Amino acid sequence: MNETLQCVGCGAEIQTEDKNGLGYAPASSLEKETIICQRCFRLKNYNEIQPVSLTDDDFLRILNGLGQQDGLIVKIVDIFDFNGSWLPGLHRFVGKNPVLLVANKVDLLPKSVKHNKVINWLRREAKALGLNAVDVKLVSAHKGIGMADVIEAIEEYRNDRDVYVVGCTNVGKSTFINRIIKQATGEGEVITTSHFPGTTLDMIGIPLDDGAALFDTPGIINHHQMAHYLDASELKYIMPKKEIKPKVYQQNAGQTLFIGALARFDFIQGERSAFTVHIANDLPIHRTKLEKADELYANHRGDLLAPPTAAHIDKLPEFVRHEFSIKDAKTDVVFSGLGWITVQHANVVIAAYAPKGVEVFVRPSLI
Ligand code: GDP
Repeated sequence: MNETLQCVGCGAEIQTEDKNGLGYAPASSLEKETIICQRCFRLKNYNEIQPVSLTDDDFLRILNGLGQQDGLIVKIVDIFDFNGSWLPGLHRFVGKNPVLLVANKVDLLPKSVKHNKVINWLRREAKALGLNAVDVKLVSAHKGIGMADVIEAIEEYRNDRDVYVVGCTNVGKSTFINRIIKQATGEGEVITTSHFPGTTLDMIGIPLDDGAALFDTPGIINHHQMAHYLDASELKYIMPKKEIKPKVYQQNAGQTLFIGALARFDFIQGERSAFTVHIANDLPIHRTKLEKADELYANHRGDLLAPPTAAHIDKLPEFVRHEFSIKDAKTDVVFSGLGWITVQHANVVIAAYAPKGVEVFVRPSLI
């Protein structure tokens, strides 16, 4: 029997292999007369959105579909991994639809950081990346910070139209939508569907009180993140859970910092300077002389320099070296998905190393 089965909730093709993929249902449920995927099942019965990821092609098709809708796009990024979670092409796909930019996980930034300053930074960076957002909001979906404000903004900008929430995996999109479900809907049937032109995919949505709906679009996997090279047990070290405590290093040229075995930062040239490291609090930082750094890494990756530990170090791709001549004070050197090091002084030359495939770049300091 080759007939494809479809979820009665969202229309996705039912499959029983990939738990995180679209249309997943446990094999036992195929016996039933009407089949509903696990994601719709959870939404219907527990009013809870579950994360789901897509291939790049499917995601592009969905993005294309967005341009043909009339609604408000809510784009979620992770403030801790802003560039890595950005979704570069989005603004070209959304057509005339307004985009509300929401930066999640603000609880990870040090409490001393002024939110207005971060919002201004986000506006500037978004613009530089080609997006003219109608507004920018900072939230912590997890802690509930800023949620009332963002819900109000959604109401204002959607103008009775549908809402489409987009973001790459792990930005906290499900946590965000689950908050909205809790605040915006009561009991009762939660699922609505909307067909996306050019895809076989129907979106599942949460009804809003005027007949419009808020749609959860599947998250795209971001291939540039460190996360892909780590074991699940080690991932918990690199993803910060709590407010980051920045660590300041006063360095002379000729000194090197290692972040586990995951990144290396050489101070090559310049006056004595301060470098502020913004990474998960539990990640070990090791300081050494630049002239000893190669040898240390060769002999101690996986033990003294960990994570990854010896059991997983072979999975880590080789380091690629990126040299930067930094002209302006307060410049972040970003290791995609891991964090960043703020160079506090002007006119220094540094080299940043990260596993092949992980992006490294500089930007004006976020905080
Ligand atoms: P999705 O893949 O975008 O749907 O993301 P999830 O909602 O599944 O969240 C991904 C991870 O980020 C989980 O470990 C969440 O606990 C975490 N997370 C979500 N929102 C926040 C937040 O506001 N602050 C922090 N620190 N973590 C969050």
